[in-house]
Amino acid sequence: MSIRKDICDVLVVGGGPAGLATAIALRQRGADVMVADALKPPIDKPCGEGLMPDSRRELDRLGVHLETRYGAEFHGILFAGHHDRANAEFPQGAGLGVRRPVLQQLLLDRAEEMGVRLQWGVPVTVREEEPVTVGGELTRYRWMVGADGNASRVRVWAGLDGGTLRSHRFAFRAHYRVAPWSDFVEIHWGETGQAYVTPVGEREVCVAAISRRPGLRLENMLAEMPFLSEKLAGAERTTAERGALTLTRSLPRVARGNVALVGDASGSADAITGEGLAMGFRQALLLAESLEAGGLERYESGHPGILTLPHRMAGLMLMMDRFPALRDRALQAMAARPELFRALLAVHAGEQPLPGFVLRHGATMGALMLAPHRA
Ligand SMILES: Cc1cc2nc3c(=O)[nH]c(=O)nc-3n(C[C@H](O)[C@H](O)[C@H](O)COP(=O)(O)OP(=O)(O)OC[C@H]3O[C@@H](n4cnc5c(N)ncnc54)[C@H](O)[C@@H]3O)c2cc1C
Repeated sequence: MSIRKDICDVLVVGGGPAGLATAIALRQRGADVMVADALKPPIDKPCGEGLMPDSRRELDRLGVHLETRYGAEFHGILFAGHHDRANAEFPQGAGLGVRRPVLQQLLLDRAEEMGVRLQWGVPVTVREEEPVTVGGELTRYRWMVGADGNASRVRVWAGLDGGTLRSHRFAFRAHYRVAPWSDFVEIHWGETGQAYVTPVGEREVCVAAISRRPGLRLENMLAEMPFLSEKLAGAERTTAERGALTLTRSLPRVARGNVALVGDASGSADAITGEGLAMGFRQALLLAESLEAGGLERYESGHPGILTLPHRMAGLMLMMDRFPALRDRALQAMAARPELFRALLAVHAGEQPLPGFVLRHGATMGALMLAPHRA
């Protein structure tokens, strides 16, 4: 690799999933990489904890093999509304629900095995007209990667902030001790938002609730979802409810000079898509390929393509969130014609192109949406 040996070839700011994946991908191509994170493992973070089959495939490429024993497999997605339920299996493979600290540890173990230099409990300070410090010490690097999450300081410091914020919603998650009752990730649609349930162990599920309303909590939302409330009734809550913002955002640029952004720092799609982690892993692989080719150009040009489909899916789901009549009709249509939901899931999983879906199923979907709605 033609990256110049300095104190480190690449300094990765943030050791979350995207930062660790980037470090591993870069080491796979021979770079000398240092990761610094302000927190110390085990690092937990509010997340729905569902890794779709495509996320597992990206992780395989990084040498991180998400075996079933690390969590609980799921085989598709189920939508549940007031009246209708629709489900579809993934066209290929299974997803895995895995507790966030477990995923973090697997990535960390792989990074260590690959020889990434890891520094925990060490904040990186980036300030205008001041040298970059890692844990208070000056650090030289050839390239810097900002993998410092949604509220990225590296992004602001590098002049990469701005862009388009398409949605921002409020999310909460908690875990319950109960045997998963389904091998689907269940997305329950209520009036104020969605709650989705991911099996993460033999006797544990993760429940994430997302709403436009800032004051909403898991409990309020469950009250709108009798089926889900019944399933969780009496189950012990094993973690405290934790909140986070979830954004659909894109940036005009994700690289400048010798700085690139990956993961949530570089843009994101609403958590309901379940694609945040996969996007970070794809960006990691692309960035390593780009740096090996000598610069950030390939990364800059390929990055928007990684966000396109998750943004489209987020747009679709947010429309269903905003317009109850549309949501009811869409759920009714998918329940009546399961092959439509299967085809849509194939698009979501990246197995089929969206234009193909529109060509093949657009007219049927349109007719079903316009059909008289039940009272
Ligand atoms: C409620 C919710 C549910 C979700 N559900 C799913 C899901 O089911 N499936 C899915 O794929 N995605 C999901 N996502 C999205 C997913 O969680 C994110 O896309 C993912 O966490 C992004 O990883 P990241 O490494 O970019 O950022 P983060 O995980 O935020 O990591 C950033 C790291 O940077 C560190 N850091 C920040 N600033 C500094 C600094 N100055 N110096 C040193 N370190 C620093 C932080 O300590 C942190 O460890 C969900 C998100 C939310 C909010």
